Amino acid sequence: MVVLPSSFTGGSRYMHERTQDAITYVRHFGRLDLFITFTCNPKWPEIVDILNQGQKSHDRHDIIARVFRVKVKHMMKLLTKGCIFGNVRCHMYTVEWQKRGLPHVHILLWLEDKIRPESIDEVICAELPDSNIDPALYEIIRTTMIHGLCGHINKSSPCMLNGTCTKEYLRCFRKETQTEDGYPQYCRRSPEDGGIVTQIKKNNVDNRWVVPYNPVLSRTFNAHINVEFCNSVKSIKYICKYVNKRTDQVTFGVEDLDEVTRYESGRYISSFEAVWRILCFPIHERFPPVMHLSVHLENGQRVYFTKDYAIHKIINPQKTTLMAFFELCRVDYFPKTLLYCEVPAYHVWKNNKLSRRKKAVSGYLEIKKDQVLGRVYAVHPVMLSAITYAYSYIRSVGQHHLLHEKL
Ligand SMILES: [Zn+2]
Repeated sequence: MVVLPSSFTGGSRYMHERTQDAITYVRHFGRLDLFITFTCNPKWPEIVDILNQGQKSHDRHDIIARVFRVKVKHMMKLLTKGCIFGNVRCHMYTVEWQKRGLPHVHILLWLEDKIRPESIDEVICAELPDSNIDPALYEIIRTTMIHGLCGHINKSSPCMLNGTCTKEYLRCFRKETQTEDGYPQYCRRSPEDGGIVTQIKKNNVDNRWVVPYNPVLSRTFNAHINVEFCNSVKSIKYICKYVNKRTDQVTFGVEDLDEVTRYESGRYISSFEAVWRILCFPIHERFPPVMHLSVHLENGQRVYFTKDYAIHKIINPQKTTLMAFFELCRVDYFPKTLLYCEVPAYHVWKNNKLSRRKKAVSGYLEIKKDQVLGRVYAVHPVMLSAITYAYSYIRSVGQHHLLHEKL
């Protein structure tokens, strides 16, 4: 069997691990608050100003990648350090490309003070601003936040499937924001109620076409930035999957190939993405870190070796985090009070062992705690019953001191 390891950026195991990490955040911090999609704007002066004569922005993937990378860093700084939505407890983002499209980034935010349904309007807006009051914002929203006209106006719009818009535009007029089944329906006033109407390609466009946005972010970045409120567990699952879904596949086969060949043959990589990766920009970042914790039966851990390396491995056997945890519980009283997944918050994994943290962001007198989260690898139910069986066996032969009670 040939496998593509999870350390391979962009591979299916890599993506699966990121999804599991997102679920770890949900387990620790509950539902996320905001889901932000930020798309590169090829008309940014930083891009246009350095094009050579006759060039279009899509001729220069290098400029697009570099500028967008800087903008993403700026955006993350504004969200996490600038706290424009309040203090951020944790965040994660993934950069994506559609087939031939511009880069965009999906950002998930968990806030310390949760956004309440009644305060959604302070954060998210789905209406055209008044050009007399705020002409700059009006122009930005008009050019970046109107859903590409579809339906009977343009039946060949990419969002159309079987005669209807997959993004459910145009939306209904609504006098005030309401949340139904966790999904908010934002306030979109009709022209009769004082809603603004604008002209795009000789069509009258009203609030039904506006993609939800945040005025501060739109004004700062002058780009397509969709901001959505998340409430239900359903949306968390959808978003975590959506954010960490695999790359577009252009071919599909049923041959039983090894994972490397399958990955190569089924992969479409756009030149935008290629440049991003050549420049070594990350496609995923998150905070706080998630430490993966192994789980296995006694002497059942994986050992990786090559022919030349086997002897070395036998002489210096490597511990897994699970073995190190048992070891730790033997010599220290404190870890006995913790669950396995809580251990990384108080301990560092270094040189084959877990030892207490010396530096930390917040702590007790003698015990230091950091924001690292632990995640135990998923175990198949069949495996679980095997472990339970092994436990009862070990107990029955009176060797239970070998294993920690809490596992
Ligand atoms: Zn549409």
